[in-house]
Amino acid sequence: MIQQYGSGEPVRLFTAGLHGDEWETTSRLLEQLSPPRTGTLLLMPKVSDNEYLSTLDRDYYTTYAPHLLRAIKTYRPTIYLELHSYSKESYAALTGDGRFERYGVPAYIDIEAGILMGSVSPRIRKDFFTPNDLCVSFEMPKGPNEQSLSVICSLLDVVKECWSRQGFVAYMSRHYPQQTAVAVKNYLRFYGHLY
Ligand SMILES: [Zn+2]
Repeated sequence: MIQQYGSGEPVRLFTAGLHGDEWETTSRLLEQLSPPRTGTLLLMPKVSDNEYLSTLDRDYYTTYAPHLLRAIKTYRPTIYLELHSYSKESYAALTGDGRFERYGVPAYIDIEAGILMGSVSPRIRKDFFTPNDLCVSFEMPKGPNEQSLSVICSLLDVVKECWSRQGFVAYMSRHYPQQTAVAVKNYLRFYGHLY
């Protein structure tokens, strides 16, 4: 279920196929990854293909995917990534301002070519990670074109070699300054009061 490359710190956990049929788009991208140059890379390419339940749902990590929560508790990654996929109809709900009002979580930012970046569910962000840990959620389109694939694959490679949250934010600020400024602002708006 969980695949391990390398050893030592930092410990990175990448997950995909978190619910429903999204594994059809996302799982193989994790399976294709090569070992990191340093530290550990743990892969859970298909968390669950059971009927869709949002990671924002209070039951997601406890009841729907307890094996994922167990892996987080066991391996204590300091770098945690979720790779999701979305259909065209969901784009507005994921990126719109209404997301904060409706669900109490920051909107996803469109980085490039329909690859969206956001925070992971508050159900795990606060309780199982420290403020300095990197927790990032990517959404990629279902049926991605070549450009979307190329963007998400380079981002996965960046996080795979990443040492810290600061290192990732620095990379993103260099390559996607405007998007990153908004993402950091969103992050602080939601999580700032926790720290
Ligand atoms: Zn998803």
